[in-house]
Amino acid sequence: MHRPIGRFAPTPSGPLHFGSLLTAVASFLDIKSRGGAWLLRIDDLDSARTDRKHAADIINMLARHGLESDSPPIWQSEREALYARAIRRLRRSHQVYQCICSRKTLHGIGAYPGTCRQAGIEVAANQCTRFVVQKREISVEDEVQGRYAEDLTMTCGDFVVVRRDGFVAYHLATVLDDADMKVTRVVRGADLLASTPRQIALAKALRLSVPSFAHMPVVLDGSGRKASKRLASTPLSALSDRDVKQHLATCLQLLGLIPPKHCGHSPEALLDWACARFTLRAVPPVLARSDFVCL
Ligand SMILES: [Zn+2]
Repeated sequence: MHRPIGRFAPTPSGPLHFGSLLTAVASFLDIKSRGGAWLLRIDDLDSARTDRKHAADIINMLARHGLESDSPPIWQSEREALYARAIRRLRRSHQVYQCICSRKTLHGIGAYPGTCRQAGIEVAANQCTRFVVQKREISVEDEVQGRYAEDLTMTCGDFVVVRRDGFVAYHLATVLDDADMKVTRVVRGADLLASTPRQIALAKALRLSVPSFAHMPVVLDGSGRKASKRLASTPLSALSDRDVKQHLATCLQLLGLIPPKHCGHSPEALLDWACARFTLRAVPPVLARSDFVCL
């Protein structure tokens, strides 16, 4: 039996917000409670939307909360060779094709109708590359959200794996990196549940192993907006030990644990305490708004 491997993969398009911290804590506890390794990957493929400063802030903010990667962080922006190899494989096996449809012609169309599938378009600039989906149901037994299934021909059709601007698309990069990092358990936010069938389809097409999935409830603020901005707007230097303990205690509560009343401990001690008690079975699929009105 291989050692379980989990990961947290933030996109550094801004500072860490509370919803991401909750997901990080959940994936950390999930993998550590199984004796596994927790890895950090920075999803910084889109250089227009992300930057190194946000990435450094996120890494430091996680460390401040006792969440440190078991090996040096992996940067997606440095892994183009891995992605290019996979795209060549998909091209050779005719599982992808070039698409020249304009955004305008596709506007308002739900699933991509396969317009360019048989056109045999040669690779050139200003095209996207689409993955051929099969007519069948792809399901995931999510360990928090339950069963989720999609027939991709109905929901999205042949989807984009290389964007028009040349960047590999999120789904393909995620699948390739998770496989390369030997990730066995993916714990992430419920907003990514709907992308799971596409990722499973890609993993199978590339004959990669499929990890298990657990999608954490999304944290809304008191007015129903996604995540609290308070953590994100607090610079690390302004964060007291008390704040850190409070953030962790709130995360643990939302994950179904009752943290000890007097947490006079370090973040590491609090996480150790939680690790011995954590189970995904106690994590609610949805959070009631009143659960985090104090954030
Ligand atoms: Zn097309």
